[in-house]
Amino acid sequence: MQNYETVLQRYENEPRINKIGLAHIFTNSEKLDFGCKRLWSYSYNMLSEPTKNAPALLYGIAWHLVCEHALKEIKDNDTMITVDRGVELVDEIGKRFLLDEQMSIDAFDVFGFIDDFVDRMKRAIKGWIPHWAEKMHKEYEIVAIELVVASPVFINGKIGGDVFFGNVRTRKDRNDYLWPVMINEKSPKHKQGCTFENIPMPYWRAGKIDVVVRKRNTQSLFIVDHKTSSSPNGYARKFEYEQQLQSYASLVTYEIEHGELQHLKGHTINGVIWDIAHSKVGMPPKPLKNGKLSTAKSRCSPSWIFEQAIIENDLDRNDYLDHIEHCKNTVDQSYFQILHKSINKADMKLTFYEDYAVAVEMDRTRNALIYVNNEEFQIVASRYPKCSEYLNCKFAHWCLPNVPLSNLWHEKEEKDTKIYWKPLTPNTNSDNLILSEDNNYKLPF
Ligand code: SF4
Repeated sequence: MQNYETVLQRYENEPRINKIGLAHIFTNSEKLDFGCKRLWSYSYNMLSEPTKNAPALLYGIAWHLVCEHALKEIKDNDTMITVDRGVELVDEIGKRFLLDEQMSIDAFDVFGFIDDFVDRMKRAIKGWIPHWAEKMHKEYEIVAIELVVASPVFINGKIGGDVFFGNVRTRKDRNDYLWPVMINEKSPKHKQGCTFENIPMPYWRAGKIDVVVRKRNTQSLFIVDHKTSSSPNGYARKFEYEQQLQSYASLVTYEIEHGELQHLKGHTINGVIWDIAHSKVGMPPKPLKNGKLSTAKSRCSPSWIFEQAIIENDLDRNDYLDHIEHCKNTVDQSYFQILHKSINKADMKLTFYEDYAVAVEMDRTRNALIYVNNEEFQIVASRYPKCSEYLNCKFAHWCLPNVPLSNLWHEKEEKDTKIYWKPLTPNTNSDNLILSEDNNYKLPF
């Protein structure tokens, strides 16, 4: 059997993932979705999916991309960029992303929608850049951006022990590509010239980390995640229950000890940080009838937006110094927040136990879904017993009325599968795999 590389959706051109070789890799998002087997079955075991994106999600992705590019420039010289450069990045990166996504925007006036988002991002970036300079740049240097990390799933969660192998039902096409078999896969088009076989594969978990920073003059690393919310104060309460970054910390630790980050040996992950940005920064205030800006304490704008109003209305900044200071001290902090949490080895170990539990159950459920009728589907992919997600779940319109599985099958292209395996060519390699005598792939430890 020839060597393969794994192609995972959203990680398609990531060498870290490709070089793992033949493996079933899941992400933290998939792990979370597995909390409801119905949701996971719809999302990961069918080729059918709603295509419109929620506006809040689009804003979050666009903002995220802008931050990513801003931080890349900051990292290059360990120097802050200007606010003007941040505004340029909104046009270059954020707007470009939204234009590329225009088909997935569910709005009557798509271009008006995009312009509104771009204006909001510009107002936000003007506050975020000085905020990052003050709260992060002084204390931390950027080590990595959009860092892809991965770890095998170990049996019983014992790090460095035996790796858990699942039994993955695959379809091999004429070009030797392997595709995971979906629920009741029956398309004649797919069957022509295809062979179906069960292939033992190691399970891995992978993640993409927004930013890794190092406390200046130390070997302490912190994992940073960008978040957007229309209510950062309320959102901040979720931080208490934050687990995603903790689980990324375990992947980084594995990579430092055994994987691709061994140049960071001696470093430890000491904590996680949420960088929360307000997603609805309002317009600059309008002058009163007397041509001045209101300095009423009850109607404070964020300071940088107030300053923008001073410039736009050709007013004297010196007349407003006290008010600007007041806005800075009372309002700005509710627009951007940096939240810290420390983590320890026990927290990270927990993730390895959980990954094992999830991988075993995922493998069992995936195989149970290969042939199911409408009734069996209710059992194998039972609805979350206490679903409180109906308003937010993108599958609620199937799930809530309990649409029979047999009514849901729609053909989509293979490229939409979340994972597949591509035969290696002479120009690619997979040096993380060793083919043993019994033809099973082993990890090099
Ligand atoms: S609506 Fe609830 S039960 Fe149904 S798929 Fe979504 S999360 Fe699961």
